[in-house]
Amino acid sequence: MQGLYQPLYFWIVQITDFLIIGQGIAGSVLAFNLKRRGFKVRVVDVINPNSSSRVAAGIWHPMVFKRLSQTWLADKFIPTAEETYLSVERELNGQFFHQTKYSRLLTSVSECNDWDTLSSDERLASWMGEITPITNPSVRDFEGQANVYHAGYLDTSEFLSATRNWLSNDLLEEEYSDDRLELLDSGVVYHSDRYEDVKAQKIVFANGLKARESNWFSWVPFAPVKGEVITIFSPLLKLEEIISKGVFICPIGNYRYNIGATYHWDKLDDVPTEEGASELSKRLQELIKVPFDIVDHRAGIRPAVKGRRPLLGTHPIENRVTIFNGMGSKAVLMVPYLADHFIDYLINGSTLMEDVDLSRFYSFHS
Ligand SMILES: Cc1cc2nc3c(=O)[nH]c(=O)nc-3n(C[C@H](O)[C@H](O)[C@H](O)COP(=O)(O)OP(=O)(O)OC[C@H]3O[C@@H](n4cnc5c(N)ncnc54)[C@H](O)[C@@H]3O)c2cc1C
Repeated sequence: MQGLYQPLYFWIVQITDFLIIGQGIAGSVLAFNLKRRGFKVRVVDVINPNSSSRVAAGIWHPMVFKRLSQTWLADKFIPTAEETYLSVERELNGQFFHQTKYSRLLTSVSECNDWDTLSSDERLASWMGEITPITNPSVRDFEGQANVYHAGYLDTSEFLSATRNWLSNDLLEEEYSDDRLELLDSGVVYHSDRYEDVKAQKIVFANGLKARESNWFSWVPFAPVKGEVITIFSPLLKLEEIISKGVFICPIGNYRYNIGATYHWDKLDDVPTEEGASELSKRLQELIKVPFDIVDHRAGIRPAVKGRRPLLGTHPIENRVTIFNGMGSKAVLMVPYLADHFIDYLINGSTLMEDVDLSRFYSFHS
């Protein structure tokens, strides 16, 4: 009789290298980069229309304007982001990665002088361009507009649809929960409700803030930030580039523009608020002279982490359980480089940068 009973994995039909939970910007790019390096993936995801990736405006650029400095690791992030999204576009025959002219509005002579001085610094010269006068009649009078090189936006809705479609044979459209996961000596088994079970070498939690709902990562000190974005319709606003000062105005076609974003650390839900819309409208009116109608308004929560650096690494006890998360407000820029960095760690055992390594929080795990 004993011979009739088989070990559990007898029933497993799908064998893969990595099981990724989440198909937001993080999970999608990670899956793409793994597949282009020849690895097999399965992705578990349910669409949440208010997920951070779906509500995001997708802006990317190399600057921290408040400090007039470059974003952390911009010199690594920018080239990898450009190469990766263009490859995804080619491979998927889509168009969602926009390299757009970006201008920072400067309010005073001293701001212009600071920009001029810093842009002659060798490191910043790749990002900070010349200052020109404002010539657009629909934009208010500012001292000048400074050109930012290497900027644009990812149409996240198009990007997620295209990658979801491309991943369709590898996608399990259902909700992950811990009780579906079984750990084996040689990997993990995911027991699906609707699909064949999956055996993988490792599981990667790339499911944004929802990672907190899993016992594996409930101890991680996430520091979420609520954000709201509006889309306006304004035929009189003749703007073909992204401009910013307080808010960004990003042209997305058909006289529509995304305006964002707000940052709030309380009331952490994904509900658009009147205060959010009026805060964005007020700041927008400080930049433009023409009327507009709000045609869309959305809110989400950025998966940021204490210390505001991403979160990559392995669970302190279970080496088959890993995380790729904490992309905060700059996912579009950071994810492609960090996905490669994480894959090198997973495959070749290379060391993670201290700034992003989950082990910096191991003391939070009891
Ligand atoms: C208003 C706003 C504006 C923003 N603007 C920008 C911007 O301009 N530029 C920029 O770079 N970043 C921006 N961001 C930040 C960016 O959106 C996030 O950093 C990024 O989307 C995080 O992606 P993610 O894939 O890690 O997580 P998520 O986007 O949260 O994706 C996680 C995915 O996992 C799925 N999932 C979760 N749990 C489960 C489960 N148990 N089972 C199955 N599926 C699950 C979710 O449904 C979702 O599809 C903005 C964020 C907000 C809120």
